[in-house]
Amino acid sequence: MKILLSADDIQRRVAEMAQQIADDYRGQSVTIVGVLTGCLMFLADLVRHLDLPLRIGLLQASSYRGATTTPGLLRVQLELLPDLRGRHVLLLDDILDTGQTLAYLNRHLQTLDVASLRIAVLLRKEGRQQVPLHVDYRGFDIPDAFVVGYGLDYNDEYRHLPYVAVLNL
Ligand code: 5GP
Ligand code: MG
Repeated sequence: MKILLSADDIQRRVAEMAQQIADDYRGQSVTIVGVLTGCLMFLADLVRHLDLPLRIGLLQASSYRGATTTPGLLRVQLELLPDLRGRHVLLLDDILDTGQTLAYLNRHLQTLDVASLRIAVLLRKEGRQQVPLHVDYRGFDIPDAFVVGYGLDYNDEYRHLPYVAVLNL
């Protein structure tokens, strides 16, 4: 597999993102809401750099489409989500592709009386967004290819890789 982002590239950028996030929230209490399962590595690495009063919440979203890059049917499970009323929420996902997932979650979280809502993604695929969405923090812009590693899977494999690679199918 062709490595697109090395483990070092990712670690350096995640630390930079954490610095920016910490500066923006300036000591305010924040609840990071991670989108399972892809957010795992990004979430775990990011929060260890964040010197802020911090809570972590999780939800699960999947669009069941294997390696095809056409958006599938979105399934969302919110059972693990804590009460977000009055909280500064930072919604965190691995990758922004069409935007369908994060746009839906953004709309849903807005209905929960949060104090503020921002969005962070590690990766954004260039030229793929179909749903208008403002993303506050993004790690890397990548070309339109199917990538795995650092949380991202193909049929639930490859998530554990410390780097991001292009999967040739
Ligand atoms: P969107 O709703 O923005 O189209 O897609 C978001 C979700 O699709 C991501 O959270 C991820 O689960 C999946 N996805 C999109 N592109 C890729 C990719 O290149 N590789 C992997 N493994 N998943 C992807
Ligand atoms: Mg995902």
